[in-house]
Amino acid sequence: MTSKDTSLTPMVAQYWEIKAKHPDALLFYRMGDFYELFFEDAKIAAAVLDIALTTRGKSAGEEIPMAGIPWRNLDQYLKIAVEAGHKVAICEQMEPPSGKGPVRRDVMRVVTRGTLTEENMLDPGSNNHLVSVVAARGKEEGPALGVLDLSTGEFRVALAESWDHAAGLLSAWRPVEILVAEGWQPPVVMDSWKERLTRRPAWEFDFRQARGVLLDHFQVASLEGFGLEHAVTGQAAAAALIGYCRESQRAALNHINALSVLVPGQGMVLDDTCRRNLEINASLRDGKRRGSLLGVLDETVTAMGSRLMGQWLNDPLQDVVAIGRRQDGVAWLVAQGVKREGLRQNLRSVRDLERVLGRIVMRRATPKDLAALRDTLAVLPRLLAFFSDAVGEALPDILRKVRLGLEGYEGLLALLEKALADALPAALKDGAVFRPGFHPELDRLRDLSGGGREGLMRLEAEEREKTGISSLKIKFHRTFGYTIDITHTHKDKVPYHYQPRQTMTGSMRYTTPELKEFEAQILDAEERLSQLESELFEGLSGEVTNHAGHLQRSARQLAILDVLVSFADTAYRRGYCRPEVNAGDEIRIIQGRHPVVEVFTEGDFVANDALLDREGNRIGLITGPNMSGKSTFMRQVALMVLMAHTGSFIPAKSAVIGLTDRMFTRVGAADDLAGGRSTFMVEMTETAYILHHATPRSLVILDEIGRGTATFEGLSIAWAVVEFLHLSGRGRTLFATHYHELTALEKMFPGIVNHTVEVREVEGRPLFLHAIIPGAADQSYGIHIAELAGLPPLVTERAWEVLADLQQRERGVVRSPIKPPPRRRKSVDPAQMSLFPDFHNAALMDFLNALEPDKMSPREALEAIYRLKGLLDLKK
Ligand code: ATP
Repeated sequence: MTSKDTSLTPMVAQYWEIKAKHPDALLFYRMGDFYELFFEDAKIAAAVLDIALTTRGKSAGEEIPMAGIPWRNLDQYLKIAVEAGHKVAICEQMEPPSGKGPVRRDVMRVVTRGTLTEENMLDPGSNNHLVSVVAARGKEEGPALGVLDLSTGEFRVALAESWDHAAGLLSAWRPVEILVAEGWQPPVVMDSWKERLTRRPAWEFDFRQARGVLLDHFQVASLEGFGLEHAVTGQAAAAALIGYCRESQRAALNHINALSVLVPGQGMVLDDTCRRNLEINASLRDGKRRGSLLGVLDETVTAMGSRLMGQWLNDPLQDVVAIGRRQDGVAWLVAQGVKREGLRQNLRSVRDLERVLGRIVMRRATPKDLAALRDTLAVLPRLLAFFSDAVGEALPDILRKVRLGLEGYEGLLALLEKALADALPAALKDGAVFRPGFHPELDRLRDLSGGGREGLMRLEAEEREKTGISSLKIKFHRTFGYTIDITHTHKDKVPYHYQPRQTMTGSMRYTTPELKEFEAQILDAEERLSQLESELFEGLSGEVTNHAGHLQRSARQLAILDVLVSFADTAYRRGYCRPEVNAGDEIRIIQGRHPVVEVFTEGDFVANDALLDREGNRIGLITGPNMSGKSTFMRQVALMVLMAHTGSFIPAKSAVIGLTDRMFTRVGAADDLAGGRSTFMVEMTETAYILHHATPRSLVILDEIGRGTATFEGLSIAWAVVEFLHLSGRGRTLFATHYHELTALEKMFPGIVNHTVEVREVEGRPLFLHAIIPGAADQSYGIHIAELAGLPPLVTERAWEVLADLQQRERGVVRSPIKPPPRRRKSVDPAQMSLFPDFHNAALMDFLNALEPDKMSPREALEAIYRLKGLLDLKK
């Protein structure tokens, strides 16, 4: 096409008409086998997608920038564009080209991070959550959040009690896109989600129309059944999501056929800090799943199970009965012993039914999706057989529900098996989707189109023979259809009945009456074949859609089964116990272990007991040397409490876990790797948050409060915090500290109990036994640790001297300032000197002088040693 081309102007006009409706999206404009982008979109796409920027004709005298991608590679480029934060509008040709003006085009779909459904663009193990946030409407209501996974149809609304609660929900859901109203200023707690916000017109959140949108979508007369009839803020949050998907998808949303409402108090509240510190989803060290609780516990074998495992661990229950139901399921599966492995093997063949179904319902499925459904349904009888063959105790409720959910697919499975070929192509237009014998007309057309092709080849051979032109070829051209191509060199041999169609530079195109007839037959058969295949595919998808509700419930039951089997397997392999979860106040753990550290510890992990309640054991003060296991112990208690609330068994000999409504953690600054926020201010902000929000049913883990400031001030703050927790009755607390002075609190207040970590001295050096025992530590062994870490002997020797001095001063024996270093440092032992030949080097001395061992964490000490070594290496 050139700038003179008359078809360009109408096309540009059409382009702008469509683009005007999607100003904020990259418009992928279908032209034949390509999606093209024009003008500014082309420039952005060229940079983001790393494709060539060219031009195509002119508009208003200016060259039109253009960049394009082949239609087959749409998914690949869509993924890159969407992940880079762009919205993409996909504009298709709505009719075959007629040669007269531009073909009719329309945007069939707008894609954003939160509305992806393609298998290869989604992480199988996590949900793709699209969230909406609406500020409170009425005085009685808090903010509401809607959460939808369009790929699976899972749809919930949470009525939060405060913005902090809302922030906790966001951290549990980890949304990929958040819808908020234009002009609304989200509260500070949402700051970390700024990048994910999508602004939508305010009216889409208007509660006056929200109810109508939902009634229309679910085709119900009232929202009573969803528990949302009177929660207008919740209605607005839900309706905003439906409106957004309706507009962007232009597809049926029938798989969004249920809505559950979460109200405050239903689940255990975990804030982002807590999730991070307890390493629930990712390890603090490298942010990876390995080394996290999820990494150890997730032994699921299906994508649906893996997603549900993530949900359960991030949303622990508060309902003793519901927890008990899950535990019953795990216990029954544990009792099945080795037979469980057979069940797992069969589960492995279960495909991602939730997402497959989502695509089928939205008419976005490929033949492979239908095959995935067929193969999954084919496994169900084997899973059902497992339950009927099982021995021992009667099937618990939760598994009976699973069994029920897997029944009733004989008809659908038979249909899919009869209809679909064994191996299926990626796209419907590649053909060969249906099994021969499924549909007589289809078979007839197939024969015809196949035979037609053969006939064409026969015709070509005959014509070659008749004319004696061996290079004669029958070819297909978009405009001219089938033609006989003959190069000019053989011009003289062309028979008279050949009708010329087009002259080319080196050859001529002809047709014959016979060829025309063949062409008509083939084209007709091919067109009817592809039309019939589309119709049959559509019919089959429609049939599946009729079962959508049932299939969705089955998918959920398969996920539940997978998670329960995973819990059972881990419990069996790692020797977990079933905790007694009750409504009492006590947390009593016998011989508990850290679920993650025990997996990664080379030697034996030392098990420990823990007891917390609201009477005599409300606050456990743990003093003990560095590296002895205080943090590990506190975290293992928190993790076991959390696991118990998900229905999982826990790494202990036995345990009683009283319901816990919230969990809080504050860990030492040096342990907080969340992007250089390790300041005293952050430490205090987090502590303040805990003191304000903890309830008597909460579990509070405080690791070294006050460490980030001068010793006496830090000690005073730590002291006051413990007193406050005691007097206010908030939280069952474990508090690790190096301020030994705090141990005096045990005698002053009932409910505060001292614990320490057992240490044995072997040849004057401490051996940490990692056993938590009653009592207070009398020593920190900090200098021992510094020695173990390899601090130069000159430093540690001097540290011992300073320590002795300080201790004497504390006892009032000495009142003078700390003594200067003894003279022997000037005439250092030659052996030492040879080890540190440049020890008097100014850089080294400066560095050492600047060290403040009392304020250093073990990590900082270790870093200092590396720097020291670096300085020494420089001198070599
Ligand atoms: P610091 O006061 O320096 O923060 P800490 O007392 O909190 O130290 P942890 O970080 O809990 O010590 O533990 C140090 C290391 O000891 C852990 O990384 C782990 O390898 C090991 N450890 C802790 N508890 C146990 C245990 N019960 N059994 C075996 N090893 C353990």
